Amino acid sequence: MYDCIIIGAGPAGCTAAGRLAEKGRKVLLVERCRLPRYKSCSGVLIKKSMDFVKLYIGEETPVHTMCAPAENRGMIFTNDHGKEYRFEQEGLNVWRSSFDNWLAGKAVEKGVLLRDGTMAVSCEEQEDYVSVILHGEKTYTEKAKYVLDCEGVTGAVKRSLSAENNGYITTFQTFNRGSIDLDYHYFYAYLQPELSQYDAWFNVKDNLLVLGVSVKEAGKIKSYYENFLSYMKKEHNLYIEEETKAEKWLMPHIRPGCRVDYGTGRILFAGEAAGFLNPMGEGISAGMESGYWAAEAAAAHFENPQKVLDAYQKGAASLQAYMQRQWSFVGGIAGTFREME
Ligand SMILES: Cc1cc2nc3c(=O)[nH]c(=O)nc-3n(C[C@H](O)[C@H](O)[C@H](O)COP(=O)(O)OP(=O)(O)OC[C@H]3O[C@@H](n4cnc5c(N)ncnc54)[C@H](O)[C@@H]3O)c2cc1C
Repeated sequence: MYDCIIIGAGPAGCTAAGRLAEKGRKVLLVERCRLPRYKSCSGVLIKKSMDFVKLYIGEETPVHTMCAPAENRGMIFTNDHGKEYRFEQEGLNVWRSSFDNWLAGKAVEKGVLLRDGTMAVSCEEQEDYVSVILHGEKTYTEKAKYVLDCEGVTGAVKRSLSAENNGYITTFQTFNRGSIDLDYHYFYAYLQPELSQYDAWFNVKDNLLVLGVSVKEAGKIKSYYENFLSYMKKEHNLYIEEETKAEKWLMPHIRPGCRVDYGTGRILFAGEAAGFLNPMGEGISAGMESGYWAAEAAAAHFENPQKVLDAYQKGAASLQAYMQRQWSFVGGIAGTFREME
């Protein structure tokens, strides 16, 4: 019997696992992929994420997780009228495979038992524990007093447990050799409705130019992407010598109000599985913070699931308020966002 089984070794799951282990709890962290695993991501650690790394992990983000240029100097938004907004802020540029692998290693150092290549198939709440069916080299059942589901955006376990789902945004990004008249130290987001149905972006990772778009209607993604390329060629002299990689992914659709599903009984959700994602697509800090608060709540009120849930909601209330403020901010600069019901 574990005190807690955590599903998913992303920022939410690793932070939660480490915190529970620090509090003396017996924790199993399961990850369906072999680590280091790939995660489609721009890999920008904003200042808030950097601070959480220091606060929750107790160390600075290590250099080996970073890619060039390692320093991110902020974000530059172009709204639906072509007006530019610059937000200068200290940040870092990381590869998620290395960063998340490092987070998982830190959780293990704190005493967490990690099983990668192990997928949670389902979980069911019993009288005073939860049974979890796991599938690795074989299929077997483990038991825990609590389950913290941190599966990320499309979690199958989450879907089997909760009807709450705000829908998805599909993302498409390419990695390219080439050149462009933009500063590689910034993350650029474009909110013009002809370029995407959410946002389009440009950033650089290890000298590869990353160009992406996000849409509500997945079938339209390539045509938006073509529009975005044309725009970048015209406005910023984009030249693509060779596309080295293209990938699609999903993000939770964060709507005005930023609804979150904290879970029920002994099964809690954190990170994207719960709906935590800042409206501009920044989710590492939200994953870490929600994972931390879920772990704090479980450790503090271990004998009383209702108190755990209440404490988790209370702890994460400021994060939800931050998401809502961000929503108002983006809605304030781009009408297309405001109307995103
Ligand atoms: C294109 C794109 C760009 C982004 N750019 C940024 C950015 O620059 N900065 C930023 O802060 N955020 C960014 N995000 C958002 C960020 O990637 C996510 O919000 C963040 O990874 C969420 O963390 P998480 O721990 O909730 O989930 P994840 O990081 O998705 O981790 C979930 C883990 O659970 C595992 N898993 C899933 N199902 C199971 C199962 N049944 N059993 C076991 N394991 C399972 C998965 O393999 C995965 O490792 C971006 C997202 C996208 C799509």
